[in-house]
Amino acid sequence: MDKKFLVDFMLGKLAKWLRLLGYDAVYKSITNMVDLERYLDQGYIFLTRRSDWLKNKKLPKDMFYFVQSNKTQEQMREIIRHFNLKLDKKYIFSRCSCCNTILVEKNKEEVIPHVPEYIGKIHNRFKFCPTCKRFYWPGTHRERIEAWLKACFTEGHRP
Ligand SMILES: [Zn+2]
Repeated sequence: MDKKFLVDFMLGKLAKWLRLLGYDAVYKSITNMVDLERYLDQGYIFLTRRSDWLKNKKLPKDMFYFVQSNKTQEQMREIIRHFNLKLDKKYIFSRCSCCNTILVEKNKEEVIPHVPEYIGKIHNRFKFCPTCKRFYWPGTHRERIEAWLKACFTEGHRP
């Protein structure tokens, strides 16, 4: 994915959803310019709801966005519109929603000892987070997530 985000304090849910979409989204409370510059230098775009950042003249306009809504889905719509984000099946569920790590594919044999028995029986494709050691698999939970993400792209685009 071509864009990556530094997501400020109070926007934890937004960070999670950006990760589910496949975007690199670091969640961190940013209170000073030194911390912020470290991320901007690496190409991270800063998303915040703290209005004092609006007064900061040193912030490059294209590397910063002030999130207006306090509802998560509206926030997603704002970011999607503003940065022209894409919904790409290849990238959905490619990152751990808890810690931002890129997930790795695991085969059934490796996974079976670690997941509930019925899950091992009905699924063949698994993903694994090397950082928090979580296993992920397709299912109704994932379908709900995908539907929610799709709604961010299809609604709310009225002028
Ligand atoms: Zn993780």
